Amino acid sequence: MADDRPVLLVTGASRGIGAAIARGAAERGWQVLVNYLSNAAAAEALVTAISDAGGKALAVQGDTGTEEGIAAIFSAVDGRFSRLDGLVNNAGVVDRTARVDEMSRDRLERMFAINVIGKIRCASEAVKRMSTRHGGRGGVIVNISSMAAVLGSGGQYVDYAAAKGAVDTFTIGLAREVAAEGIRVNAIRPGIIDTDIHASGGLPERARDLAPTVPMQRAGTAEEVAEAVLYLLSPQASYVTGAIMNVSGGR
Ligand code: NAP
Repeated sequence: MADDRPVLLVTGASRGIGAAIARGAAERGWQVLVNYLSNAAAAEALVTAISDAGGKALAVQGDTGTEEGIAAIFSAVDGRFSRLDGLVNNAGVVDRTARVDEMSRDRLERMFAINVIGKIRCASEAVKRMSTRHGGRGGVIVNISSMAAVLGSGGQYVDYAAAKGAVDTFTIGLAREVAAEGIRVNAIRPGIIDTDIHASGGLPERARDLAPTVPMQRAGTAEEVAEAVLYLLSPQASYVTGAIMNVSGGR
């Protein structure tokens, strides 16, 4: 797949917000690595759709919550592409709705392994390949946080909210650390977005149920989040780093 087009890794790109980012990035000329956890059919269908539209994409399985998974993902980056220009740290999970006094240690370890440590480790591997300090040509990282980082998600999943708070702080710190090495780092905080994630937390109607609480009176779409990510990935955002943008309908 030798090609001069910039290469973007999107974690958790087989469905939802990640899939919309991968689709939009391919339309804008990125070669896209579509990472997924277990839904190979969805990832391959997206790769086929991107190829049919004239873009380039490759599906790569890998659990961002484990070192083995991250090694598999970056071995695909190195083996199939000669460069890495962008990373969207999108893969993320919620658990079943619970109070903090019901949360087990196992639950918290999984929550932070995927939503925090996985993102920091993927960014670390990306920096090694992008930073001018390491001989790279620079790049851009976008972390997908959540409005939960600000709102706290009391009574639903405070563990998830706390993990997203860590993503916000990590974004600011990494942005300052690598700003002089050609890498911009920003985050998006989506609000209530209509994807499968709510069903995976046991609340399939959550987006519809919470729509009236959103100032704009509706849930957002994955494509609306993707547009903001694509802006941050683009040269139009050349002076934007360490920023956290809410895409939440005012929530
Ligand atoms: P989603 O519809 O549940 O899709 C999750 C995606 O992540 C799938 O592609 C899934 O792969 C992948 N994935 C899950 N765990 C993974 C792992 N350990 N390693 C690699 N890939 C993994 O989720 P979404 O709603 O699009 O959410 C995407 C991001 O936006 C998350 O970080 C989430 O916290 C954030 N967010 C979402 C909302 C919302 O309302 N939807 C709001 C705020 C923030 P498989 O298909 O293989 O399972």
